[in-house]
Amino acid sequence: MKFSELGIIDPILKALEAEGYSQPTPIQEQSIPILMRGRDLLGCAQTGTGKTAAFAIPILQHLIKDRMQDSGSRKIRALIVTPTRELAIQIEESFNVYGKYTGVKNAVIFGGVKQGPQTTKLRHGIDALIATPGRLLDLMNQGFISLRDIKYFVLDEADRMLDMGFIHDIKKIIAKLPEKRQSLFFSATMPPDIIALSQKYSAIRKE
Ligand code: AMP
Repeated sequence: MKFSELGIIDPILKALEAEGYSQPTPIQEQSIPILMRGRDLLGCAQTGTGKTAAFAIPILQHLIKDRMQDSGSRKIRALIVTPTRELAIQIEESFNVYGKYTGVKNAVIFGGVKQGPQTTKLRHGIDALIATPGRLLDLMNQGFISLRDIKYFVLDEADRMLDMGFIHDIKKIIAKLPEKRQSLFFSATMPPDIIALSQKYSAIRKE
């Protein structure tokens, strides 16, 4: 299987080639076609499987199309929530790498650092936001971030998120998302509470 067989557009294919990726990993092969069609997904994948590209590539592709249809205006249309600062930084780096020929702009926010540089970047306009829950809620409460235009939502490392006690923060964040959106959940393990969470907040149903 080649990336080009997954319906990925040229600017992204070019970036993957530049990274030296010759073929999709299993999670990419399985997820990318589903996500390109706009479906919700609960993916069981650990770090190291290529799961970041599995969601970043379809989201970047959707964002390019949305901007073309919307005369290039920038709104936060994609939100990726992840439990730690390290993961947030890695995910933003992946969006930058895979999206380097797309014109899509990203920002990453996390706690423990001054918010000034983060809010400056937000003011300049971005398409995709990668965030840890606490700083996201903080900047939402201060009026720096609105989730009203989010069309693509990813909850990354969902099991770790629950282990770290973020469930209330996650519920508050999801409550501010538009009803009509694509929702993706990724988790290394699949305990019943993760399945229940994904079913409650998406079109994922028991099959
Ligand atoms: P992740 O599981 O998303 O943390 O990715 C693990 C590592 O695999 C990262 O360093 C990626 O750059 C790399 N990677 C992702 N997809 C591919 C691919 N299709 N071919 C080669 N390396 C990849």
